[in-house]
Amino acid sequence: MPQGLAPSLRWVGRSVLDFLVPPHCPCCDQEVSAPGLFCAACFARTGFATEPCCAVCGVMFGYAAQGGPDGVCPACRAAPPAFSRARAALRYDAQARRLILPFKHADRTEVAGVLAPHMARAGAALLREADLLVPVPLHRRRLFQRRYNQAALLARALTRASGVPSMPDALVRHRATPALGAKSAAERAATLDGAFAVRPRRAAALAGRRILLIDDVMTSGATANACAAALRAASVADVAVLVAARVPDPRLG
Ligand SMILES: [Zn+2]
Ligand SMILES: [Zn+2]
Repeated sequence: MPQGLAPSLRWVGRSVLDFLVPPHCPCCDQEVSAPGLFCAACFARTGFATEPCCAVCGVMFGYAAQGGPDGVCPACRAAPPAFSRARAALRYDAQARRLILPFKHADRTEVAGVLAPHMARAGAALLREADLLVPVPLHRRRLFQRRYNQAALLARALTRASGVPSMPDALVRHRATPALGAKSAAERAATLDGAFAVRPRRAAALAGRRILLIDDVMTSGATANACAAALRAASVADVAVLVAARVPDPRLG
């Protein structure tokens, strides 16, 4: 076979595939010009998690003065989290749910490749400083039901985008925790107490490293905080957090 034929055949194959199955908007299935792009209407509806936001947890502020002189939200001031900083690509609103719920529950695993570039942009500074990406783990029963961990898919896509390696089995989830949405901060902490731990055979590889924890959605930050506490107990140098979407705090608008 002449040299170079295989790549050109691949290119032809790809073109034929694009012709047969043209790329679609991941939110609404409208045809788009390239894979992974939102259509114009969905892009206009997408709420990016922009500043002003809490200097620590990244929760969006309605106006900058909500952060006070240090730029930190009331929750982080009252109880500083175990992670140093958290940032998100999107606001978790109706449009983000159209993307993320099928990603979590309906096998739309290709959405990881749609979200990762937005996460890489929002978390560019965090990725530059990170040694390792660690996804928030699922409990093994939930992993068996779902067959994939959406946070691990995001970490893998971010590794491809940034070159920072992932360690998908660094943490283990001992308990499948119920939805935390309606619980108070104290109830969340009690529910998550002991839920996460560093996998013993990974402890040596984590010590002294700067970890970027990866998840799909951050609500109160309680899950990220529990993971960060488990990583800190294994003597990591730092834990920051990068998520696809952040639930706005209704008190901060
Ligand atoms: Zn669309
Ligand atoms: Zn905060």
